[in-house]
Amino acid sequence: MKTLASLKPSVRMPVLFLGHGSPMNVILDNDYRRSWQALGKELLARYPKPQLILCISAHWLTKGWYLTAMEKPKTIHDFGGFPQELFAQQYPAAGAPEAARDIASQIGAGLDQAKWGLDHGSWGVLKPMFPDADIPVVQLSLDWDAHPTKHFEMGKKLSVLRDHGVLIVGSGNTVHNLGMMGQGAPHDWNVQFDTFVKTQIDNGSLAELANFQDLGALAKQAHPSYDHYLPLLHAAGAADEQDSVRFFNETYDLRSLAMRSVVWESKS
Ligand code: ZN
Repeated sequence: MKTLASLKPSVRMPVLFLGHGSPMNVILDNDYRRSWQALGKELLARYPKPQLILCISAHWLTKGWYLTAMEKPKTIHDFGGFPQELFAQQYPAAGAPEAARDIASQIGAGLDQAKWGLDHGSWGVLKPMFPDADIPVVQLSLDWDAHPTKHFEMGKKLSVLRDHGVLIVGSGNTVHNLGMMGQGAPHDWNVQFDTFVKTQIDNGSLAELANFQDLGALAKQAHPSYDHYLPLLHAAGAADEQDSVRFFNETYDLRSLAMRSVVWESKS
């Protein structure tokens, strides 16, 4: 395809959605970080090394869609109140300005050459997965004015990149309500909404995920602001209904976060 001249055709790459949860997961030796480390190793063993990682993080909200297009995206520490060790983390993956231009023309996005970089939704999961930081990374922003169905459609546009060596990674949470965090068993609505997500994915009813607001009060409890849900819609849009699917980190954190993560893979 002419507009993707910078990316060579390859075997169809998987699509990931990763529940990232607390920024501390990148430095704590816990099950979440270990699962990301294991997944990165597994993918490198089973697939050609990705030419590019396209990451859709919950933490970059813009008017319109943007792709990072700098040679060296900076590591952004977009959080507060955490230990110095977390602020000292760097993820020096290269950018890919030429590929970003090609993808932008393919999907109708703008280019960000200076402002953003890699926020913790991206580097917080990529660093455990690919610690060598030797795969270029481009981030795609979330158009905060666009209806959720548009985010799913954007995922559909991204799908072709899977055939060009691009690993698509959505990073958010299937349930994310910071105001209701606490200790103990997960809230009922947390389990209910996360189960809705699992059911749609199990059934291959991926477009249904974009209609989550039809769940009314349940959707509002799960996502008072749905920034952490939108990366799931991108990943689901880039997946094929006939892909094999598996879940991991099917757990709840701090009562009001769900960490469910998804791997979609082509069966052929
Ligand atoms: Zn987050």
